[in-house]
Amino acid sequence: MCPLTIADLYTGEVLRNLRRSFAKRRNREKIEGEMTKMRKYRVRPSCPYCGEEHCYRNVILSDEEQETLDNYYISRAEERKRRTSIGNLLKDIENKPLVITRQFKCGMCQQEFEETIVILREDEVGFRSPDMIPMGIYPV
Ligand SMILES: [Zn+2]
Repeated sequence: MCPLTIADLYTGEVLRNLRRSFAKRRNREKIEGEMTKMRKYRVRPSCPYCGEEHCYRNVILSDEEQETLDNYYISRAEERKRRTSIGNLLKDIENKPLVITRQFKCGMCQQEFEETIVILREDEVGFRSPDMIPMGIYPV
């Protein structure tokens, strides 16, 4: 009895589809792996057309933008220790650690608009600090 290979069991079409689905899964895993490496920041730009201000969006920063943001906090680590967390937050808002411009589409009126936003490390999805209550975790 000769041993059967997988190619003997399936027709060419089935084999092609199998290969395609394996490749697709590999690509998806690769993309998902890359996505988890990217840190997401939640922003809430107000729509200039209808005034809607409750639509949260996630933005992903470019490597340069992420570096700018990280460097801001790294370079000020010592001086941040001397202030309270609310003092640090107020100072960060004043200093604008990172300013980005992105295109958004309003979820209410469907108009597209460009918005310039200040990003703080507190905006990161999943950001945790003993001084902050994480959003969306505890019902109010
Ligand atoms: Zn709108």
